[in-house]
Amino acid sequence: MNNNTYIEKKLAMEQMLREVMGETSTREQLQIETFADALEQIQSAADRDFAVIRLDQKAKLARELRTALHKIDTGSYGICEECEEAIAPRRLDALPFAKLCVHCQENVESHTTHRHQETLLEDAA
Ligand SMILES: [Zn+2]
Repeated sequence: MNNNTYIEKKLAMEQMLREVMGETSTREQLQIETFADALEQIQSAADRDFAVIRLDQKAKLARELRTALHKIDTGSYGICEECEEAIAPRRLDALPFAKLCVHCQENVESHTTHRHQETLLEDAA
């Protein structure tokens, strides 16, 4: 990967990070909301749950972006954390903060799916 590619990825991720961090209105809405009646309260609670999930996802994304930016600075960007092979440039184009190569990501996902299925079986029992 050449220097221009690093700079491109860095700029793209810094922009993504700004966009993620720029959306602070959701958190403010959580604090100033008041409830007129019970029905509205239920609806607002559902909205709030959804907002909390979105905040979690944003926090996670921001963390991933910061980690990837740090890796660019330390020269370990684009290296799979599992097998230490170079991550395919096309994968980094699609997911600039990817931590794993396609193969290791597939491994992780198949494990996660497996665990999920076990949980479902336990629930059914
Ligand atoms: Zn790997």
